[in-house]
Amino acid sequence: MYDEIEIPLDYTNFTWRYADNGYEWDYNIKVDEMFHEGNYSSPFLIIKPGITSYTSTTPFKSSPELFTLFAELPVGDDDESLKAILNFTNQHGLLNAGLTMDNSQIDNGIRTYSTIFQGISLHFYLTQIWEMKNAFRIWNWLQEKNSSTLSKVIRWTNDDNIQYFFGELEDIDIFSSTGIQYDSNGNCLTDLKGCIIPRSYKLFDKPQHNVLKKIKKDDYFLPAKFVIQKIINKNLSKYPVKPLLLMDNNETLKQFFVPSSLLACMWFQFFQVVTGERKIKQCFYCGKWENVTDKYSSWKYHSRCGNYARVKKYREQTK
Ligand SMILES: [Zn+2]
Repeated sequence: MYDEIEIPLDYTNFTWRYADNGYEWDYNIKVDEMFHEGNYSSPFLIIKPGITSYTSTTPFKSSPELFTLFAELPVGDDDESLKAILNFTNQHGLLNAGLTMDNSQIDNGIRTYSTIFQGISLHFYLTQIWEMKNAFRIWNWLQEKNSSTLSKVIRWTNDDNIQYFFGELEDIDIFSSTGIQYDSNGNCLTDLKGCIIPRSYKLFDKPQHNVLKKIKKDDYFLPAKFVIQKIINKNLSKYPVKPLLLMDNNETLKQFFVPSSLLACMWFQFFQVVTGERKIKQCFYCGKWENVTDKYSSWKYHSRCGNYARVKKYREQTK
């Protein structure tokens, strides 16, 4: 009989860094005129100009639940989002290397940089947060076995495919009650002015996919699992985590998984939670997610939050 081989959770190896001076939004950077939309449009999040030092972080060790904070960032082009993204970046660093630009790519007279710098557009941040936010809540509804909410974001199409929706629930509600129409490519055909149109996506490329035979029309759990699988796989192929041989102190070669960026690291954290090897729980008091992999299954509060909760309860009882 063989012993089961256990891969310890520290099979990951990842160090990232943030600039001690912090970051700022720059509205003046102009990238080549050919690109004026999406990832190439202003504002960009950049390191504050000047000489800077960095602090190293090890997100898998210090905050294995970091992706939950990222998924909860607000997504808008208003001050609230800009501040929250800036705050996140000041603590954890940029999502990835971003666009690297030098002086030659910046309009003279607007701003000059003496060194090459990195920048990530607001657009890129928002699309990444949006994707993780939507996938993470589907995972949460799946854990809660909340089929009534899942039924709002997962629907069967006339050609026996399954669509899923990324959008705010209120918007999806409006659209389901007004009979929103999508074409076969997921483009919205209904014109409802003033509403943010939820995006619709096809779950499978081919409606005759074998898997569809297994799914019953009132089952939202299996499609939800497929949505999560699809989104995480897609992002891990874009932002990879690579196997790498590294040597330990005894000169033994060992296997490690090394994310290519902070973004890859966070998708991999989500991946670990979905497979159950990493366990997270939401604190009853503050609502933040906590890594509880090595904690008792009865964990309910951060220790500080537990104290607050007890004091609050005591006060209510003695009123
Ligand atoms: Zn708490």
